[in-house]
Amino acid sequence: MSNQPELSFRESVDLMFNRAIETMDLPLGLAEQIRSCNSVYQVQFGVKLDNQYEVFTGWRAVHSEHILPVKGGIRYADFANQDEVEALAALMSYKCAIVMIPFGGSKGALKIDPRQYSEKDLEKITRRFAQELAKRDLIHPSLNVPAPDMGTGEREMGWISDTYQSLFPEQANGMGCVTGKPVHLGGIDGRVEATGRGVQFGLREFFRHPEDITRAGLNGTLEGKRIVVQGLGNVGYHAAKFLSEEDGAKITAIIERDGAIRSENGLDIEMVKAHIAEHHGVKGCPSADYTEDGASLLETECDILIPAAMEGVITKDNAARIQAPIIAEAANGPVTYAADEILRKKGTVIIPDAYLNAGGVTVSYFEWVKNLARIRFGYLERRNEERRGQIIVETLEKMLGTTVPPELRAQLTTGSDELALVRSGLDDTMRNAYNKIRDIFNTRDDVVDLRTAAFVCGIERIAKRYESMGI
Ligand code: NAD
Repeated sequence: MSNQPELSFRESVDLMFNRAIETMDLPLGLAEQIRSCNSVYQVQFGVKLDNQYEVFTGWRAVHSEHILPVKGGIRYADFANQDEVEALAALMSYKCAIVMIPFGGSKGALKIDPRQYSEKDLEKITRRFAQELAKRDLIHPSLNVPAPDMGTGEREMGWISDTYQSLFPEQANGMGCVTGKPVHLGGIDGRVEATGRGVQFGLREFFRHPEDITRAGLNGTLEGKRIVVQGLGNVGYHAAKFLSEEDGAKITAIIERDGAIRSENGLDIEMVKAHIAEHHGVKGCPSADYTEDGASLLETECDILIPAAMEGVITKDNAARIQAPIIAEAANGPVTYAADEILRKKGTVIIPDAYLNAGGVTVSYFEWVKNLARIRFGYLERRNEERRGQIIVETLEKMLGTTVPPELRAQLTTGSDELALVRSGLDDTMRNAYNKIRDIFNTRDDVVDLRTAAFVCGIERIAKRYESMGI
């Protein structure tokens, strides 16, 4: 193992980019144009909380504007920094291109530990940050559309939306200035679960390909697979919940900030979530063994490891000890470049972040379209679909002289509501993108793994766009 310090997150992403372009034939200079972050804005602003002023630092990076608006979450974390925001913005550009969502890439962050502030203070800080960004068109329905990320959610997006629309009430499309809003404020059904749901759909698609399962040294389906999840926040909770409740997988360990819990029989996700909400950690969770050294469970034996907390958790220091044959990157950047190289040599299959956690931006796209169109999905078609289903059922019964069983009748005569349509669109997106990536991986000898294939897929699409634009 080398004593070289690990590269920064942005350097790691850039090296992954470089590995991809080495297999491509891009015109001179175009790779540099795509790789570089177009602009990054840093703001310092003061907020009066109780009787004292506090100064906060925030960023919004715009990585690639080959399509507008650019898109990317806003993160609240005490460790946030410019390098990280630029890395995340770059991943957004590649991610949107991989899943063919028509956005450029952006990302924002505020250096703050939200758990240390009251809701009232957080609202004041968020509204002020939103004003600072909106003043510079870094929040704008046709230029730059944020969304939730680590430490933020529907509540913060609601505040941002209201702040923007109060500043620019004349803008007809103001509601589309941010996604991930509460449904009653112009959000969309299925956005909160979207990233975790996308992880489930991505893994399901992986398990539809026997050669891919064999390459990982596994067999069968998701049923009974032992999964370790790091981070039971928005993404980790939904992924763990759906995979265990709907696909029969067993969540055998959960790693959180205060340590980790494990149970070979599988953990009840709702119970663990309720325990965390009450006790602010996993310690003391019933029917599970607790260990304070949570990160050590990244190395435990399991079938699938889902890092869903933050970047840089699998590094050159622990990569060789990771036993999971599949790492499903629900978080952004959980595996560093150096770790990635070690894991590939070991034969670990990594389903990369730039593909696997694209469910969030996919459903954000649906929300943005809904805001611009001002109509909820399924509004016009739903009852018509039901009427047609009814006619089919009645025709079948008349022709066959028998009654259609009640469950089948219910399925045929239920029209699609917004949630069903959102899930269908997300499933389609995740399936198509995986097949495109595995096709690149399987047909190009110099593409060494699924991550490189995903980058090649995204970069090719961005390059084509730039070339057609004449840039
Ligand atoms: P979140 O804040 O809802 O959840 C993060 C969870 O990880 C929390 O439960 C937190 O306690 C836990 N955690 C933090 N540090 C940890 C550590 N060192 N060890 C173990 N657990 C730790 O955030 P989220 O929105 O679920 O985002 C998680 C990851 O997914 C991030 O990398 C984010 O960029 C990525 N992501 C999020 C979305 C989204 O829609 N929210 C979309 C794409 C990617």
